[in-house]
Amino acid sequence: MSNAPLIDPFDRQINYLRVSVTDRCDLRCVYCMAEDMTFLPKAEVLSLEELDRLCSAFVDMGVRKLRLTGGEPLVRKNVMWLVNRLGRHLKSGALEELTLTSNGTQLAKYAQELADAGVRRINVSLDTLDANKFAAITRWGNLDQVLDGLAAAKQAGLAVKINTVALKGVNDDELDRLLTWCGECGFDLTFIEVMPMGEIGEQRIDQYLPLSMVRAKLAETWTLTDSDHQTGGPARYVDVGETGQKLGFITPLTHNFCESCNRVRLTCTGTLYMCLGQDDDADLRNALRASDDDAALQQAIREAITRKPKGHDFIIDRRSNQPAVGRHMSVTGG
Ligand code: SAM
Ligand code: SF4
Repeated sequence: MSNAPLIDPFDRQINYLRVSVTDRCDLRCVYCMAEDMTFLPKAEVLSLEELDRLCSAFVDMGVRKLRLTGGEPLVRKNVMWLVNRLGRHLKSGALEELTLTSNGTQLAKYAQELADAGVRRINVSLDTLDANKFAAITRWGNLDQVLDGLAAAKQAGLAVKINTVALKGVNDDELDRLLTWCGECGFDLTFIEVMPMGEIGEQRIDQYLPLSMVRAKLAETWTLTDSDHQTGGPARYVDVGETGQKLGFITPLTHNFCESCNRVRLTCTGTLYMCLGQDDDADLRNALRASDDDAALQQAIREAITRKPKGHDFIIDRRSNQPAVGRHMSVTGG
């Protein structure tokens, strides 16, 4: 049946698609990109119409959550056309949620339009509240621009979750402050462990900070209670007694979250990655362009899902200082 649900070999239903709409970004976070990144030639990137068709094919096959990411999704030209177009699946009820992961630099401009298109919540990546540190981590970013974007998101009624990559010797002294600040602003917060993806010109082991340590340290001053809250993503949550907010931990390296993985990732060139931590992929661009009919595309998607692996094997240690996966996070958008 063409719209039968997508079930992988381990009986997991695939109902969450993350789409990197561009590999480009206006920042160069040190853990994510090298300073002199080479981006894809525009000709290789799917058009917005093609992205809409691909996403819609997944929705027809039972995908209920779509997350647009990048690179920075809001620097893609005319990205709001795509968001508005995909909004029709929210209206029809086929899609439960359309959301974005953004660095926040363009949010002041787009927050209201996103809300109008049916976006209800947004993840914004922010690793520090110190302007100098922010400029250093992002290589040239302006913290105030992001704070203005966050204010606009709040004003537009978008629920905000802040994503913070925990970096040893960089922001580990500030995680407490971020938790307080998120409590004051009414934002949820998730800490992410740095993952070994792509050459970045620095040593990963120097950045790696296990979240088990972060949690133990925070528990000295905050009342953290395990929560069964689920967002369909990989984070495990605790309730923070003092702020009433949720705090998430994404710990791919210290905790294996693969058993319940319900998601796949599409790049802006139409390559589908069945696992963030493995190299196996499927080219959907050919199937998409081969015909205007979706039958071949749907077949290519189903074939890809039969190859979804049981899990990943990220390792950071001193012996293997190579990235476990050669592509950068900006290719698949995390
Ligand atoms: N530009 C957007 C942003 O920064 O939110 C979306 C794309 S970004 C690649 C998605 C998320 O991946 C961000 O929260 C970022 O901090 C995280 N990220 C990037 N590289 C990472 C790495 N090597 N390890 C862990 N998280 C990473
Ligand atoms: Fe850009 Fe996001 Fe990567 Fe930072 S984490 S360089 S904002 S894509």
